[in-house]
Amino acid sequence: AAKGDARASFHRYQQAMTETLETRLTLEVALREALAVGALELFAQPRFALRTGAVAAFEALVRWPHPERGLLLPGCFLEVAERGGLMASLDAWVFEQALVHLSRWQRLGLPYRLSCNLSAASFRRGDVAAGLGELAGRYGVDPARLELEVTEDLLMHDLDRAAQQLRQLKAQLPGLRVALDDFGRGYSSLAYLRHLPLDTLKIDRAFVADLAAPNLAAPRVREGAPRTQRTALAVIRAVVALGHELGLSVVAEGVESAAQLGMLTALGVDEVQGFFVGSPAPLREVAGAGAAPVPDA
Ligand code: C2E
Ligand code: MG
Ligand code: MG
Ligand code: MG
Repeated sequence: AAKGDARASFHRYQQAMTETLETRLTLEVALREALAVGALELFAQPRFALRTGAVAAFEALVRWPHPERGLLLPGCFLEVAERGGLMASLDAWVFEQALVHLSRWQRLGLPYRLSCNLSAASFRRGDVAAGLGELAGRYGVDPARLELEVTEDLLMHDLDRAAQQLRQLKAQLPGLRVALDDFGRGYSSLAYLRHLPLDTLKIDRAFVADLAAPNLAAPRVREGAPRTQRTALAVIRAVVALGHELGLSVVAEGVESAAQLGMLTALGVDEVQGFFVGSPAPLREVAGAGAAPVPDA
C-alpha cells in the first residue's frame, strides 16, 4: 500500500506541476498578446508632500484587465513576465504610457511628477536612457517630470556599474529623478547610498506596518509588539536623518492608518503614499481633479 500511496502522491505531484506549468504558459502567451495589442492598463497612486498636503507625484502601477480573471495585480503576472523575458517590453509600454500622460498633464498645467518602476531586466539591457530620451522628445516632456524607482537588489548586484549607469541615465535625461524603492527590505548596507546618484528614498512598507496597527483610526500601538515598534521607529528616524544628510527626499510607503500618518509626520518624513491617503486608480482618471488632500491626522 505504501508503494501505491507513493505512486499516487507522485502522480498528484506530477499533475500539479503540469497544471502550474500549463497555467504559467497560458498566462505567458496571453500576456505577450496583451502587450502586443496594448491591453494592459496603467494605474497611479498619489504621493503627498507632508509639508504642504499637496500631491507631489504619482507612482505608475501596471494592471492587467484579464478577460476571464478580472483585473490582475502585478503580483499575479510580473513573475510570468520575467520568466518569459517580457519585462523589458512591459517597462517600455509603461514608459510610453507614462509619457503620454505626462504630456497631457503638462498641457493641462498639472504639476505632478510621475514615478515608474524600472525592472532589473530593463536596467541590465542598458538601453533605458535611449528609449526614454526618444519618448521624452517625441511627447515633448521635460525629463524632470519623471522619476524611476529602482530596487536594492537591482543595484547591489554590481554597485559600481549600477552607479555609473544611473549617472549616465541622469546625464542623458537632465532632471530625471531616481528613487530607491522598498528601502530596507534587502540586506543593504547604508554605506553604499553615498555612491549612488539618488534623489528619493522610499522606506519599505514593512517598517510603516510595524509603527502602528493598520486601519485603526485611533493612534493605538499594535499590541504585544512594543519592541517591533521601537525598532521601526529607530529605523525610520535613522533613515530620515541619513536621507536628509544626503539631500534626499524621504517617502514612506504603505501608509494605512491615521496613527501611522501621524507618526511619520512627527518623524519628519517628506512624502507619504498608501491606501490611507490615496489608493491606485486608473491613470487616465487623474485629470484636473488630482487627488484628495491628506486628511487631518
Ligand atoms: P512597489 O513599487 O513597491 O509599489 C507599491 C505597491 O504597494 C503597489 O502594489 C501598491 O498598490 C501597494 N500599496 C500602495 N499602498 C499600499 C498600502 O497602504 N498598503 C499595502 N499593503 N500596499 C500598498 P502593486 O501595484 O501590486 O505592485 C507591486 C509591485 O509590482 C510594485 O511594488 C513594483 O515592484 C511592481 N510593479 C508594479 N507596477 C510596475 C510596473 O509598471 N513596472 C514594473 N517594472 N514593476 C511594477
Ligand atoms: Mg515602486
Ligand atoms: Mg515600493
Ligand atoms: Mg513596496
